[in-house]
Amino acid sequence: MKKIAILGSTGSIGTQTLEIVRRQKDLQVTALAAGSNIALLERQIREFQPKIAVLWDEEKAKELKVKTADLNVNVLSGMDGLLAAAAESESEILVTAIVGMLGIRPTIAAISEGKTIALANKETLVTAGHLIMPLAKERRVPILPVDSEHSAIFQSLQGEGNNPVHKIILTASGGPFRGRTAEELTQIRVEDALKHPNWAMGKKITVDSSTLINKGLEVMEAKWLFDVNLEQIQVVIHPQSVIHSAVEFEDGAMIAQLGTPDMRLPIQYALYYPNRRSLTGERLNLASVGTLTFEEPDIKTFYGLSLAYEAMRKGGNQPTVFNAANEKAVAMFLHRQISYPDIPRIIEASMQEIRFIKEPNLDEILETESEVYQFIESRW
Ligand code: NDP
Repeated sequence: MKKIAILGSTGSIGTQTLEIVRRQKDLQVTALAAGSNIALLERQIREFQPKIAVLWDEEKAKELKVKTADLNVNVLSGMDGLLAAAAESESEILVTAIVGMLGIRPTIAAISEGKTIALANKETLVTAGHLIMPLAKERRVPILPVDSEHSAIFQSLQGEGNNPVHKIILTASGGPFRGRTAEELTQIRVEDALKHPNWAMGKKITVDSSTLINKGLEVMEAKWLFDVNLEQIQVVIHPQSVIHSAVEFEDGAMIAQLGTPDMRLPIQYALYYPNRRSLTGERLNLASVGTLTFEEPDIKTFYGLSLAYEAMRKGGNQPTVFNAANEKAVAMFLHRQISYPDIPRIIEASMQEIRFIKEPNLDEILETESEVYQFIESRW
């Protein structure tokens, strides 16, 4: 039995992870954590019988405790709950599938306890990669990517030993607004931004995909995961989302991973790495796909992607500013408080405004996040 804990079990990645647990018979869930979705978490507890269950919301956690009084589960809340779930003594793997920088501290706690990390929560590496990666190395803890692009890169690197990577080709679908002008983007409504052409995901990442900011976050994530320079990472728009990403080696050989857009594959690969297991579902039929196309991203119109490169080049707490400003701006957009083009505008203004810290520690990263939130709330 392989024992796993899942943070964000009620979300898109979390529920797909549990779908895999349901099908495979040798995975056991030790801890589950969610934000406030009490009904789904209760169902999950009854089905998967974890030792620890966490709801961020304290009042709802109390309610859940009453509802699950007939079960042998320890119901916790808040950050203490997340830390306990992440470090649960029996689990081998932590699936980090919560949204946002909230994932940093539990990830650090799990690494410190020697747990393998199946990492979906990209914001953790974007903002604290300089703390997480050395810690993982020191503790000899594998960080296995769940993000489909990074899993594709990881899969493409298998069997290559110490062959250096020449270039990483990070593919992007281009989102629903590919080809639109800046003028046209002013008309985008929340409903439009939540329609991804190829992938069904949580709301925040769906909006991030439409602005290409998700690709910016992924560039930063790739830099940390694969220890490459920014100049070695090329973003290519590939609207069919068949090639999930590729690696070019020194001799010019390019190795890629292809497949249907199904997140269960990278999740399962991370859970069983280095082994593969069978997976039901639609298979890729290249003859019926017909044509694969590629183009350069339009970084003038979707300049959030350029801002991501700028933040990463500058380093220090700038990626945190970029990420926190985006989290706040996307939340405001989803609440219809700002317009769609305000998202990169708010990020740019925050990057100019917030004081620069060259080598931020964890407290400074979290303070930067608060500073960014205060700045945005005072201006918008
Ligand atoms: P969702 O919005 O679908 O799910 C988020 C999960 O986090 C839910 O379980 C939610 O609980 C939980 N959560 C939210 N706030 C808290 C909190 N304060 N404490 C504890 N749990 C909380 O997100 P996704 O699954 O789409 O994305 C998760 C992460 O994975 C993100 O970092 C995203 O960038 C990344 N990712 C996602 C992909 C996808 O296909 N969805 C692909 C690649 C990466 P509740 O339901 O109660 O609110």
